[in-house]
Amino acid sequence: MTNLHESDSKSINNSKKTVRQKKSAPNTDCPGVLSRPRFSLRTHILLMFILLSSLSISLVVGSAIAINHIQKKFSFFQISEKYLFDIVQARRWEKNYFLYGTNLEDAAQSANNAKIILSDNLEKVTIILSPEETATVMQHLDKYRELLQELTVLEKNRIKNTEKKHEIETSLREHGAEMVKLAAALVHNEQNSINAMLKLIQRIPVYILAVVLLLTTFLVCFFVKRLIKPLKLLVESTQKIAKGDFSPIPPMCKYRGEFTTVELAINQMIQELQLREVAMVESHKLRAIGTLTAGVAHELNNPLNNIMLTAHAMLEDHKDLSEDELLEMINDLINEADRSRKIIRNLLDFAREGESISEPVDLGVLINETIKLAQNQIKVTGAKIETQIQTHLPQIRGDKQQLKQVFLNLILNALDAVKKDGTIKISLKQADNPGFLSVQVEDNGCGIPAYILPNIFDPFFTTKGPGKGTGLGLSVSHGIVTIHGGQISIESEEGKYSRFTVILPALHVPADLKSHNHSSRWMDMLTGG
Ligand code: ADP
Repeated sequence: MTNLHESDSKSINNSKKTVRQKKSAPNTDCPGVLSRPRFSLRTHILLMFILLSSLSISLVVGSAIAINHIQKKFSFFQISEKYLFDIVQARRWEKNYFLYGTNLEDAAQSANNAKIILSDNLEKVTIILSPEETATVMQHLDKYRELLQELTVLEKNRIKNTEKKHEIETSLREHGAEMVKLAAALVHNEQNSINAMLKLIQRIPVYILAVVLLLTTFLVCFFVKRLIKPLKLLVESTQKIAKGDFSPIPPMCKYRGEFTTVELAINQMIQELQLREVAMVESHKLRAIGTLTAGVAHELNNPLNNIMLTAHAMLEDHKDLSEDELLEMINDLINEADRSRKIIRNLLDFAREGESISEPVDLGVLINETIKLAQNQIKVTGAKIETQIQTHLPQIRGDKQQLKQVFLNLILNALDAVKKDGTIKISLKQADNPGFLSVQVEDNGCGIPAYILPNIFDPFFTTKGPGKGTGLGLSVSHGIVTIHGGQISIESEEGKYSRFTVILPALHVPADLKSHNHSSRWMDMLTGG
């Protein structure tokens, strides 16, 4: 017992040391994480906000500019209409003068007004009409005004030069007609330009809507991809962890961000889980050792009694005994001591502290050794053990202690389930799945009700009373079998039987075993990776 206590505290100290070492691991284990460029979700959202805000601001500014432009166009349209009006008015007064001899001054006044309008808005007119046309307009208007001036002078001096008047009238008509034509063109062009602008403004909301829709769709898709991909990886990783694969999860994003923190936290959790798994295996093993120790003590009684009796007989009768009889008794003593040593060695072997060792294992031998470990419990229960171990099977690779723990759990559970005359059948054979060996532990005990079957591999699930069951046996066994690249399954019928089947990969691993679901960690050990 003292030895067990010492090994207990050693194991606890070791676990603590490992925990401490592993706790600092995530920072040192993931140097790649720190070298990844930083691009967090916060930056994403900020960029998206800036982009959408810039778009909205440009739209508002664009609309303001367009409205302002239209306003200017409209006011210039009014000016060009006024110009046309003055030109037309000048021509009307000019006609009146030639018909009735009136309104010559009015005609000059209207022509002057037109000239003022044109001079004030020359730049804009040049944009609407071409510079050449603008120059022509100016020439016609100046000529028209000159002719009106000449006519006014003739009129003031009362000169009755009919020929000159007629010449002026013809020129006035020519320039006047040109002026009206160009003024009408100015109004017409400006009107067309306003109409085109209004049409454009009508279409702008449609364009804006299309751009906003496209941009939003792109941003949403981009954002969803950036969120969904790591989340999907996260789900896959947690499913892998649930299946017992504790390899660190791969990077979820190219960039360093919020998901990197999640990734580091999960990898740290994986390390913690690994430690807990080891602690769970240890704690359950300690409990099994407790159970077995009582049996071993009982088991040791027989050889020790025999040794005692033989030694007493030798002490009392050694003078009367022949040399041959003495030799026989000494041999008995050696045999009994050897039997005791084997019993103790078997228990010590199971209780041995240490790292998980992967070595070739003969499952047949291992099963027989495990049955010996449980020998006393078997005797106490009075159950019958039937073994069917196929010979010439390939070895497997694994940790002997851990595998013994699996089969011991199954045998102890079967012993708990059967009555006095129950039978436990233990068989080893080639599994249906090529490259795998199959171990079955079947009992004709109480069986397992269908409604609790899905829970029996859960940690701490037990139907046994307080102090009797821990609910760790099957969960620990499941973990051990999984990391050995195998599977454990159960078939049972309440009141009739329970059959546990453990499938483990043989040492000559077929190529397709590498793709086996849960075996990655163990496969690395098998292949020396
Ligand atoms: P424990 O034995 O400490 O309860 P286990 O994880 O080994 O924990 O088993 C969980 C439960 O599964 C048991 O409480 C029992 O109800 C059921 N069980 C396991 N093996 C058998 C069996 N051979 N026959 C009937 N029930 C079983």
